[in-house]
Amino acid sequence: MLTAALSLALLATLKAGPVKDYAPLFAECRAEECGRRLIVLRSFRQAGERRILTVDPRTLETEARPMKGLHLRRLPVEAVRASTADEPYGRVLLDSETNGASHQDAGIVHALPAGNGVVLTVDLCPSARPLDRRLFEAVIATFLPEERPVPLGIAVTGRWMEKHRDDLAWLRGLQASGEMAVTWINHSYNHRYGKDLPVSRNFLLEPGTDIRKEILSTEALMLENGLTPSIFFRFPGLISDLDLVKRVVSFGLAPIGSDAWLAKTAKDRQPSPGSIVLVHGNGNEPVGVNRFLALLREEGRAIRSRDWLLFDLRDSVRLEEIRKH
Ligand SMILES: [Zn+2]
Repeated sequence: MLTAALSLALLATLKAGPVKDYAPLFAECRAEECGRRLIVLRSFRQAGERRILTVDPRTLETEARPMKGLHLRRLPVEAVRASTADEPYGRVLLDSETNGASHQDAGIVHALPAGNGVVLTVDLCPSARPLDRRLFEAVIATFLPEERPVPLGIAVTGRWMEKHRDDLAWLRGLQASGEMAVTWINHSYNHRYGKDLPVSRNFLLEPGTDIRKEILSTEALMLENGLTPSIFFRFPGLISDLDLVKRVVSFGLAPIGSDAWLAKTAKDRQPSPGSIVLVHGNGNEPVGVNRFLALLREEGRAIRSRDWLLFDLRDSVRLEEIRKH
């Protein structure tokens, strides 16, 4: 089944083709034309047509579609934020700025659980090692048939996508076959890191960083690979400052942190319900993956009786925004 799904996914990619003229475009598409009111975030050319990337301000779901025939109402990003201020999309942008001044772990770090369980996010920073496939295999084996597809977030860098074509096709296959529902999170293109640099000048805070390029070229490469970018952005190293947070939000994206980076949290501290768990799936941090797999074994009985679940990032953040306001 996986092989069939894989070739389907590969076919979709071939059809997708190169992305050109990728740029922010903020606009509103009315329900009469788009089926429901959507916010337009980007425009681009692909496979000979102009296309747009949209977000549903209520569900936070994103989608790429042809632009032809649509009468879009262009708006400055501030107007988009004002017009969605009472909806989950506008609220999550606002909330992600509120703790933006800290250098570490800005943005949304916890979500409202619909019960017991967590939101799993997997970072794919640049790496010479192959994908840690056992994480995905174990997650699917554990949650099927209780949860199908299994929801998870994957934070991907441009450089990882460039170097790991087979692993990326394998992930896409799991999505195409309906085993995983992936929220694709932008983790920057280059993910630069200087071992000797202080936090205040490291990762995306390193002087000379072109944040526009880091954001947009990652999204364009996602689309070329048949992935739909979500509205979420994860800072490399979870390092940022208020200026950088505001820059990211000005692209219509919401920084997403973590309150449970498993390789770094104390051994006796388990994620709580609604934790946004962070593990590295790029082969560089097996200790975090091992801790997550141990957690799945511990919760095995609860998982089988559906008392412990993985939650969809978009849904959980949306519910959290509704609860808070
Ligand atoms: Zn990273």
